[in-house]
Amino acid sequence: MSANRKGRADEHRNAGSTLLSEAREVELARRMIRCGARLQVLVAETSLSYERLSRLYHELRGKSPSKGMLPFSETWYLGWKANLHASFFYSFYESLERNTPDMRGIDRLITAYEHYEDSPLAMDDRNSPKPVLSFTRAWMLARFVKRARTLRMDTCAGCGIGFLAMNTGASASASRYCAVCHPPPRALPALRAGSIDRQGTGAAGTRPYSAPEGLSAEGVS
Ligand SMILES: [Zn+2]
Repeated sequence: MSANRKGRADEHRNAGSTLLSEAREVELARRMIRCGARLQVLVAETSLSYERLSRLYHELRGKSPSKGMLPFSETWYLGWKANLHASFFYSFYESLERNTPDMRGIDRLITAYEHYEDSPLAMDDRNSPKPVLSFTRAWMLARFVKRARTLRMDTCAGCGIGFLAMNTGASASASRYCAVCHPPPRALPALRAGSIDRQGTGAAGTRPYSAPEGLSAEGVS
């Protein structure tokens, strides 16, 4: 092969791999946008430009992305209902981590979120058409646990399931209970009505899913 022909073949191959990697990035962004990701998350997780992501977002959602700040506080995850949702999501995310070591972190996060979003529990707030835990909050949660290490999964002394709690650095206490075992008084009507149960059969009760790993009684807000 002449030097010229070889050069053109290399160029062609490089252009092909660039196109393929761009297609993968667009697909990743599309999955995140479908889950409701904010633009800042898309920028952090893909190599696509802000302008391209913004255009893609507009094309898929029919509106411009929100320009607000990302939720930055861990305390949201400790509220009673938020803790139920976040703990359920995170327990599935952790099980994926154990069972799919080769999966990229962001793909695992999206898969865990899709599982959560698809569960009857996600929509248990009938006043809102959106899941209680947004994709952006799920993404922040993984950062709080894995990077900042300000939150962690503890095990409930009552039922043995895992639940999210502040990471105080101390070893897990034998007297920490999840909010299903020790719910706040305002949550009792929902528990009595069976909209949330320990087996995690969810609000609709039509399709069982893997048990949520609990709630933080100490973090009730
Ligand atoms: Zn419990």
